[in-house]
Amino acid sequence: MHDSETVKCGMVALVGPPNVGKSTLMNTLLGQKISIVSPKPQTTRNRILGIVNGDDHQIVVLDTPGLHRAKSPLNREMMRIALETLPEVDVIVFMVDATLPPPAKETSPTRYLEKSDKPCVLLLNKVDLIAKERLLPLLQIYGQLHPFTAMIPVSALAADGIDEFLAELKRLLPEGQRLYPEDIPTDASERFIVGELIREKVFLLTREEIPYATAVTVDSFQEPADGGAVTIHATIMVEKQSQKGIIIGKQGSMLKRIGEQARREIEKLLDQKVMLKLWVRVQKDWTSDPRVLRDLGF
Ligand code: GDP
Ligand code: MG
Repeated sequence: MHDSETVKCGMVALVGPPNVGKSTLMNTLLGQKISIVSPKPQTTRNRILGIVNGDDHQIVVLDTPGLHRAKSPLNREMMRIALETLPEVDVIVFMVDATLPPPAKETSPTRYLEKSDKPCVLLLNKVDLIAKERLLPLLQIYGQLHPFTAMIPVSALAADGIDEFLAELKRLLPEGQRLYPEDIPTDASERFIVGELIREKVFLLTREEIPYATAVTVDSFQEPADGGAVTIHATIMVEKQSQKGIIIGKQGSMLKRIGEQARREIEKLLDQKVMLKLWVRVQKDWTSDPRVLRDLGF
């Protein structure tokens, strides 16, 4: 393919309430996991960029933290990241969960879309979980909340409705030259995704405030000289000594589970054997410390 060829090309923001399946959709579109997923809200903290390539299109998708009422400095940062994405894109994709009742007009997160003149597509996700006859009434209600360009029922998990969604995006995106090379799925570093995969396991394996008190830094990445395992050192940061105890678990059992599950996913990502060494460190009140937040990339 010629380099200067034009294709349907542009940026798309994936926004919506927490836990509706934005990151799941991102991974389905890319056919690989670059954005972490959990049943808990506010899993995604940063903006994750994914690049969907086809013969006639390149769609740059920005997965964002959920739009929610933000109280703590970390949550306010997450909201800011989601909202700042809107003016930068060609199309806004607003995703909702079909299993939940639609919001009331006054409190609807669609109000964040009002300031924008961008085309906005509604994705009604998780339709694998609801009866078909409930679709139409739901679409009617969402249609009254915002003048969406299109409303598409999908299942991000079962990859249902994705072709219709891509066709709609291609219709809305301008012609242009590819913004990224065709062979990279994301601009995130392997290091960043490795940290995220570890954080995902903390989200999946711990409860209550623990996931929200946790951040992960990847401290070193040593490629083997002889094609053996790559050695990765990473630190799980928590806010209090008691949380450190929970992350480590009885005789280290929790840390071991986190490490084993994360290692398996990291091996898939890198397509290579991995030795993962995890540490746990208490960093008092990091979720409200601007310096630590900056170090974490906020
Ligand atoms: P986000 O917070 O919007 O990024 O949501 P996630 O992608 O982290 O997903 C939240 C939860 O919903 C996870 O447990 C997913 O497995 C689940 N989920 C996402 N999409 C679907 C779907 O299409 N069908 C079903 N049944 N579950 C889904
Ligand atoms: Mg997410």
